[in-house]
Amino acid sequence: MNALAEQYVRLVLAVGEHDPGYVDAYYGPEAWRLDAARAAVSLDALAATAGELCAAADALSPTAGDDEVIVLRREYLRRQLAAVAARIRMLRGATMTFDEESKALYDAVAPTHDESHFQGILDQLSAVLPGEGPLVDRLDRFKQGFVIRPDRLAPVFDAAIAECRRRTGEHIALPPGESFTVEYVTGKPWSAYNWYKGGYHSLIQVNTELPIFIDRAIDLACHEGYPGHHVYNALLEQHLVQERGWPELSIYALFSPQSLIAEGTANFGIEVAFPGAERVAFEQKALFPLAGLDPAGAVRYYQVQELVQKLSYAGNEAARRYLDGKIDREQAVDWLMRYSLTARDRSEQRMRFIERYRSYVINYNLGQDLVKEYVEKHGGTADHPDRRWRVFTDLISSPRLPSGLTPPAAVP
Ligand SMILES: [Zn+2]
Repeated sequence: MNALAEQYVRLVLAVGEHDPGYVDAYYGPEAWRLDAARAAVSLDALAATAGELCAAADALSPTAGDDEVIVLRREYLRRQLAAVAARIRMLRGATMTFDEESKALYDAVAPTHDESHFQGILDQLSAVLPGEGPLVDRLDRFKQGFVIRPDRLAPVFDAAIAECRRRTGEHIALPPGESFTVEYVTGKPWSAYNWYKGGYHSLIQVNTELPIFIDRAIDLACHEGYPGHHVYNALLEQHLVQERGWPELSIYALFSPQSLIAEGTANFGIEVAFPGAERVAFEQKALFPLAGLDPAGAVRYYQVQELVQKLSYAGNEAARRYLDGKIDREQAVDWLMRYSLTARDRSEQRMRFIERYRSYVINYNLGQDLVKEYVEKHGGTADHPDRRWRVFTDLISSPRLPSGLTPPAAVP
């Protein structure tokens, strides 16, 4: 399978020549990258190559007694290759609906919710945020009391990262010498990004153009760092690239099924690292004082946040309707303000994300739900925190993809 895996890597590198941002991470041989840049193969020719590689992957036949990880590897190559082929079709101008696109690229389709689903949650929020005017403004006014003072950002993030790393290190043997650098940037369509560099090192960028609320410290420290993207990439490098010599994990194609696992585990990792009330306790003790905030407000803040997070699928609806041409940009901003309670400036930033990354948005919330379901089904429930860490760690050390999280229902 190594020969096919190498061809997969070379294909992703070649597509990256047409699609900036497609190669999210690559730490394989530099010569392969140079080959792709020099050859500058056309999209038409890449489409033909992708077709051949997909056929070759489909023809890989299982051998009796294969380890589970070998079975997962074959499936990984097959589905990642199919997603590369779909991305090439898009780059050549093919159009797909939002759901067709997410199926083709991320191996998953997000459920649909109508207004009434979100209205029920909005009613609950309205009760806990009394006052005049639209709910989005009331929430915004409430949250203004929980902004991290700009001059306190670095110490707050450093403390959050140190605690996430400490908690993760108690359950996961982190690769030797793993490390990352944090940079503060502006003018990006995302709020933070992990750039994995290989050699167990990441660059994490945090976008500071809008005020940063206190919950983002733990969210980002877990999601981008521990036990999220940084750890996921480092464990794949250690166990699959270094120990097994599999080249296909040395590249990360952004618009591919792997992203649902990456984003889903990064989000679910927050709950794994801070079960139950542990998060609020830590924030009251350490982060609120560092951020210049009164710890007395922490409990209420997280009660409100818990409700707000239930609105996250409203973002998928805005993206689906907008990208399917059912609503225009302004209507999408209105929808985000009304149903996900995102203030106007943040809704505008979100629209820039949706326009750039399209159906990628489902990877965060659907990814988190699928990962949670998978981990719990394997005994990693909140009542069994050690087991939960073990199942989670196995998942982020393996090439498992979305359809491998939800095995097909048994035929009756
Ligand atoms: Zn992420």
